[in-house]
Amino acid sequence: MMNNEALLHAIIENAIDGIINIDQKGIIKLVNTRLCELFGYQSRELINEQVETLLHFKDELSRQKHVKNNADTWIINITGKECEATGIKKDGSTFPVKLALRKVLCNDEVVFTAVIHDLSVEKKMAEQLMEYTNNLESVVHDRTIELQKLIAQLKISQNEAEDLLEKEKEINQARTYFVSMASHEFRSPLSCIQLSASLIERYFNRLDKEKIMMHLHKIKASVKDLTDILGDFLSVEQIEAGKIIPIYGEFDLVIFCEELLNEMRQLTNKNQKLFYNHAGIHTICLLDQSLLKYCLSNLISNAIKYSRDICLIELETKIDDKEYEIRLKDNGIGIPLKDQEHLFEAFFRADNTQDIPGTGLGLNIVQRYVKLMNGTIQFKSSESSGTDFKLIFPLFSVI
Ligand code: ATP
Ligand code: MG
Repeated sequence: MMNNEALLHAIIENAIDGIINIDQKGIIKLVNTRLCELFGYQSRELINEQVETLLHFKDELSRQKHVKNNADTWIINITGKECEATGIKKDGSTFPVKLALRKVLCNDEVVFTAVIHDLSVEKKMAEQLMEYTNNLESVVHDRTIELQKLIAQLKISQNEAEDLLEKEKEINQARTYFVSMASHEFRSPLSCIQLSASLIERYFNRLDKEKIMMHLHKIKASVKDLTDILGDFLSVEQIEAGKIIPIYGEFDLVIFCEELLNEMRQLTNKNQKLFYNHAGIHTICLLDQSLLKYCLSNLISNAIKYSRDICLIELETKIDDKEYEIRLKDNGIGIPLKDQEHLFEAFFRADNTQDIPGTGLGLNIVQRYVKLMNGTIQFKSSESSGTDFKLIFPLFSVI
């Protein structure tokens, strides 16, 4: 049977953790084999050394923080607590340890004994776990971003699909408009042609030359109307296909407007007055003459069509050193406020047009032509005072 001392010695020597005894001043008095293995010392190298040779405590536990040379206070401070410290090996390398210092009374002498456990494996595992968690977090983060991108792409695709659907709807709507408008707008000149042709037949037998001529003119006018409508359809299609490119040329704006007004006067009655005024010393401008002619013809014909029997239509042009400005004012029926936002849409006609003929394509084409020449179109209108259109082109619209 082993005596107590031998048993104690065997237990200490075979412990799986390091064991150390220090006195009240922190001087090492005993170390076990495992402690020597952990720190890479021979036991004799450690006996009577300061405990700080082996252990470095965190700042708040370190001896320096406490009253100098008062080891008691320091030891008492860490006694009974389980704390972590840094172990310093003989070769200077360090490793994490956990220790618990206990006060032991032995033969009236106070010693402090501590079990020191190497935390390297646990710390490494904790670090690996942390790394794994961080990796996982970054993978989750990356995946979240990918998912967000995917959602954004889906949203774009959804929007594109909605746009396509919307376009499809618009095309269908335009088709419906076209059919109803074409049947309406084509019918009146066609029936006029038919009526005039039958009347010519009758007047031919009676040899009434005057009446025959009048109906021939009516037929010609109706054919012109039909040609104009077809021309508008063609223009819309050509603009949409990008086939219309302005051909710029210099011309005298004043002469151009005067000639155009003379042509347009044929559409007016004697109480519908057309006036023209030009401001500025320059009269030459650089634009596509035939596109501009279409624009002004439609604006003037609108002003005439959408005016009462007695009316005043004023055309004003202005050339300064920045721009060309063309303005057309009438005191006609005006455009209802609720219809104004749709004015440039193809086939759109305001509510107050009643039986005045028109396809609703004119302003749509005008707006596109103006844009092709880098210009802008604006208007103001009220049912009480009439309509005021303004076209502005930059002076060097070619560039
Ligand atoms: P089109 O010119 O193709 O023969 P339209 O004259 O009806 O037909 P737009 O020139 O595009 O078509 O005009 C669109 C609509 O704008 C007209 O139907 C009319 O309601 C309104 N509008 C245009 N100009 C005037 C104006 N000067 N006064 C009152 N309403 C106008
Ligand atoms: Mg018109």
